[in-house]
Amino acid sequence: MAFSISEKEDTIIALATPQGVGAIAVIRLSGKDAIQLTNAVFRGKDLEKQESHTIHFGTIRDGDTIIDEVLVSLFIAPKSFTKENVVEISTHGSSYIINRVLKLFISKGARPAKAGEFTQRAFLNGQFDLAQAEAVADLIHSDSEAAHQAALHQMRGGFSGEIKNLRDQLVHFASMIELELDFGEEDVEFASRQDLHLLVEKLLRVVEQLIGSFDLGNVIKNGVPTVIAGKPNAGKSTLLNALLNEEKAIVSDIAGTTRDLIEDEINIGGVIFRFIDTAGLRETTDTIEAIGVSRTQEKMKTASLILYLFDLSDTDLIEINRDINKLENLGVPFVKVANKIDRANDQFISDLKRNHPDTIFISAGKKENLDELSHKILELVNLDKFKTGNTVVTNIRHYDSLVKTRDSLLDVLSGIDNEITNDFMAMDIRRSLYFLGEITGEITTDDLLANIFSKFCIGK
Ligand code: GDP
Repeated sequence: MAFSISEKEDTIIALATPQGVGAIAVIRLSGKDAIQLTNAVFRGKDLEKQESHTIHFGTIRDGDTIIDEVLVSLFIAPKSFTKENVVEISTHGSSYIINRVLKLFISKGARPAKAGEFTQRAFLNGQFDLAQAEAVADLIHSDSEAAHQAALHQMRGGFSGEIKNLRDQLVHFASMIELELDFGEEDVEFASRQDLHLLVEKLLRVVEQLIGSFDLGNVIKNGVPTVIAGKPNAGKSTLLNALLNEEKAIVSDIAGTTRDLIEDEINIGGVIFRFIDTAGLRETTDTIEAIGVSRTQEKMKTASLILYLFDLSDTDLIEINRDINKLENLGVPFVKVANKIDRANDQFISDLKRNHPDTIFISAGKKENLDELSHKILELVNLDKFKTGNTVVTNIRHYDSLVKTRDSLLDVLSGIDNEITNDFMAMDIRRSLYFLGEITGEITTDDLLANIFSKFCIGK
């Protein structure tokens, strides 16, 4: 979906508010003819004579037929989101009205906008860089406080400025070294190798830090991978359901029926937890379940948090101690959760409390004490790191480019140390510049842009 030059000149139109009935709907136009096109179907003031950032009441008419009474907001280029002329028409939120207005404008020469086309125009016209444009999409899709904060921070500049600044300095060195190349055989050195070494080290520190933030970024965006581990019938599916409040996992009385991994997301205290329901800790002779169990072990290693769930009416202290020992060796933070408190014997509860005072006692089936469990979960994931205003890389595309940047910067460093020839040095620097430029959009291809913006919705 590459855009041709003429497509970039079109005036585009789309519904900017969600489909469906609402009190009002906003239809947005962007392009050089946006105001003129609106004026042709609007009865009220002459819109072409109005100031930017003004709102006007009137009617939209198809010939003599009034379609709706509307409010028209004007944004005159370049003072708009896309830096083009933009008109926003607030109509009543009926799908009949919306469709008639859209059709009317299309018959007059506007073109339906493609997915993300408004944001793409904003990017192409220099409103923001690519990383910020992508953050607009993240912001729209953010469904937790942490994800919202990370996206907002990036949309408002985030690491773009930092990357751009370092890239500019590196561009300077690249041109110095290329100048040296022009002098061919003569032994000149415009770019001090020592200064270059220092700059590359500085760049590497920033790039490494951003790469390191991706683990957190990924968790913010996609959720904390959490495993509920426990033997069959401990109540894992019931707990997941209780937390989800939906019957998504198969609850069964038959031991070991939860064979498939079911992933689901729950928002606890502004943080998304991605729950991975598993088949159980216990080794088994049943082959289908054995697959489930080995997958469980794999999943457990990649989890950031494990809920170790056991049935109070069906587990003894020896077994619990053995499981806890295994979990401690795994090295992933875990919560000890004793389930079916409604069926537990008091003596066993007090034994457990003595041996494992940090146990949380719940009834998944009766939804008891789930709040205490939620608190404990939040405590373990260290909420503070999610509240950070620091720069966090959440986008896999940025992460990839950063890793490639780091590798080529390391090549530059070893090039300096091994006194490689200038042409190879220049090549390594250019490569670093290329990957850095990919992040903010100084270097783009039509395919890359099409790929990024097609992930937006129409109207964005
Ligand atoms: P899983 O195999 O670990 O996923 O266990 P399930 O969630 O399928 O639960 C096994 C059985 O224990 C089901 O019959 C549940 O209804 C029951 N169960 C789960 N939680 C509780 C609870 O808190 N109290 C009681 N009495 N039964 C429970």
